[in-house]
Amino acid sequence: MKTIVSKELRERAVKVMPGGVNSPVRAYYAVKEIPRFIERAKGAYIYDSDGNKYTDYIGSWGPMILGHNDERIVEAVKKQLEKGMSYGASTQLEVEMAELITSLVPWCERVRMVNSGTEAVMSAVRLARGFTCRDKIIKFDGCYHGHSDMLLVKAGSGVLTQGIPDSAGVPANCTADTLTAKYNDMSSVQSLFEEYPNDIACVVIEPVAGNMGVVLPKDGFLKDLRKLCTKHGTLLIFDEVITGFRLGTDGAAGRFGITPDLVTYGKIIGGGMPVGAYGGRRDIMNCVAPEGNVYQAGTLSGNPVAMAAGITQLKILNEDKNIYANIEVLGERLRNGIKNAAHNAGVNVTVNGIGSLSTLFFCKNEVTDYESALKSDTKAYSEYFSHMLNSGNFIAPSQFEAMFVSAVHTENDIDKTINDIQKFFDSIKN
Ligand SMILES: *Cc1c(COP(=O)(O)O)cnc(C)c1O
Repeated sequence: MKTIVSKELRERAVKVMPGGVNSPVRAYYAVKEIPRFIERAKGAYIYDSDGNKYTDYIGSWGPMILGHNDERIVEAVKKQLEKGMSYGASTQLEVEMAELITSLVPWCERVRMVNSGTEAVMSAVRLARGFTCRDKIIKFDGCYHGHSDMLLVKAGSGVLTQGIPDSAGVPANCTADTLTAKYNDMSSVQSLFEEYPNDIACVVIEPVAGNMGVVLPKDGFLKDLRKLCTKHGTLLIFDEVITGFRLGTDGAAGRFGITPDLVTYGKIIGGGMPVGAYGGRRDIMNCVAPEGNVYQAGTLSGNPVAMAAGITQLKILNEDKNIYANIEVLGERLRNGIKNAAHNAGVNVTVNGIGSLSTLFFCKNEVTDYESALKSDTKAYSEYFSHMLNSGNFIAPSQFEAMFVSAVHTENDIDKTINDIQKFFDSIKN
């Protein structure tokens, strides 16, 4: 596979950008390949600057659920572009977006648009703290909620409940009120509540974890969390930046039948444009400025071009009822295909997933939390990644991410990918 242009661009990029990128995972540090520079994408396929074509299982990390460059979204964006890109004032599009979200997700009674998932979760946590007049928050090891200071904590072994920052530049003060628990382990949450029964503002969780690879909530886990939060006057925040409008129009909350107090969205709701949102119970959302005293603002928030893209994508997802059923079938086909391929080759791996989200873990053990995810053989993943990339499959350059299937992937696309995976498994069996 030719990588001449990508190599040249990489050399230029690393001189002027840290790691040559604007977001770390794109630098391919966890694998041994030249990061591909992308020139265009259409449907299920993505093309790099050397002209190589790949079947795309990243989908911009989630937004492209309809595939790349859906013509209806492109049309909506073009139409708005001709009317102006930003006004710094209210528009009809913002009202339509808020009406759409609140009608699709009835318990999300009011909503505020922001520009990224990071901003959405950061703001939702501030709101939870403002509403409850409490400081402490609980997050789960291995869940990612964007890069705001207080949430950049996963905590190392032995210091499970201490807020130790994961990044330089985050003062210990900023994470001192961040408590961490173990995903799928209610007793780890209970003991934090026993220690701080009246101090916890919110529990923030990915209802299906997507950032330690895909990890599903065990039966009853979300329900028990909901109960415990209610008992302690603590707000439950579902971070649905990945799962929102992916596991159905009402996201993981709808899928598992749990109503959180607040929810955060991103990725899909922007249709490929930089958009995030947080919303939830009316009495809580009423505390957001200017109605309430929890301040949060944004020069480009509710940007009309971004709203045009997002509204169009959400409307399509809502109106075409076949989309979710279809990607569900494709996701299952992918997971079953990978399992069969592993079985045929006598290779031991673990496949997790739900709907359009899947992860192939290079480990024998079940993956139910961060600790078990970390048992994966990342060196094997790196070899798998090289094989897949060079056989035309664009997958995450890291073990701890999801494979995303879009509405325009075909059974043939999936089967070809499974065939490529089979070849890799065959090559590693001894
Ligand atoms: C991607 C992601 C975020 C952060 O969103 P950005 O738009 O990258 O800031 C937050 N939470 C979850 C669950 C995510 O997957």
